[in-house]
Amino acid sequence: MKKCLYPLVMLAMVLCGVQLSDAKPEVKPRVFVNPGHGGEDSNDRPCPFYCYGVGDTIPYFESISNWYKGNALVDILQRKGYETAISRVNNTTLDDLDLFEIMSLAANSGADLFFAIHSNATGIQKQMNAPLALYRGFTGEPAVEGNDVIAQLMMDALGGSGATQWSSKPEISGDWTFYDWGYKVGLGVLRYNKLPGMLCEGSFHDYIGERCRLESPDYCWLEAWNQSCAMDKYFNHKPKIQLGCIAGLLRSSETSPYLADGYQLYGDDNKRGKNGCELELFDAEKKLVATYVTDNHDNGFYLFKNLKPGLYYLYYAGHYHEVTVEANKVAYLSFQDFDSVNHPPMKQIKPKKPE
Ligand SMILES: [Zn+2]
Repeated sequence: MKKCLYPLVMLAMVLCGVQLSDAKPEVKPRVFVNPGHGGEDSNDRPCPFYCYGVGDTIPYFESISNWYKGNALVDILQRKGYETAISRVNNTTLDDLDLFEIMSLAANSGADLFFAIHSNATGIQKQMNAPLALYRGFTGEPAVEGNDVIAQLMMDALGGSGATQWSSKPEISGDWTFYDWGYKVGLGVLRYNKLPGMLCEGSFHDYIGERCRLESPDYCWLEAWNQSCAMDKYFNHKPKIQLGCIAGLLRSSETSPYLADGYQLYGDDNKRGKNGCELELFDAEKKLVATYVTDNHDNGFYLFKNLKPGLYYLYYAGHYHEVTVEANKVAYLSFQDFDSVNHPPMKQIKPKKPE
């Protein structure tokens, strides 16, 4: 009897206008995120320094900024419609998994992409600041298809940041070429990895200007945002959220005190970042959207994130600066000594503050 019913059901569906859909279920790209190191131990790249803004010596651990970036990246990717897995959500010694364990977790996660987050150090007196992408294989001959593609997209995204001071251009290399550790040895975390992926040295934390910025969780968030934009391109993924950001650096006319301490500083980093400085953001209707106060780590970094595309006015130092936000992009506006340095001519308006 059952057999005879089936064509009748089909006929009923057609008559009722119900179409059998051949749409495939949504396939979300899946990313495995590995924030490098874990805890505050001697192998977590401690770089304590005297911070003039704080007026004391403060710690820096690479494990902490990697942790900020990794958790931010997972949050952003999920909101953009990705599936994610992460090797650690905390920053304790126990979270510092061994490399084989990380590789096993990545393999078992069913991820399409492996992404290890780090920052770099020269290890020598000379300091520099640029991102570096390392992938398994020889340079130009990736061991897994796609390694070099994500590496290039990632360096384009991070190297395009206008909220830092680069000393040089991004670098991309296969780890077998980069490290002289023996034939096809390379990085431990990539050694057994069969997934496309890379290790991202987002910047140099032993460059003092960058170390001051990496103290800011928001600065780390911005790097994660830029990483996510590179992944959107890699997967040709249209993000579920269509939002943008405004970010930049506020600097005074005062020479950076770190110069007198013998640190090397590039470009505008030789001017001190402005601490505890407030900016206000107004929308096109001239309603206050958000305020941001820079921290005390001499970085002058500010960020307005998760903004709907459109026209905004940034109020800083007595002036309103017009800025257009585009989805999946960052509008960079930096200011030095109350003068605009890299944005279109200032347009004076009179926004009204909400009652
Ligand atoms: Zn590292």
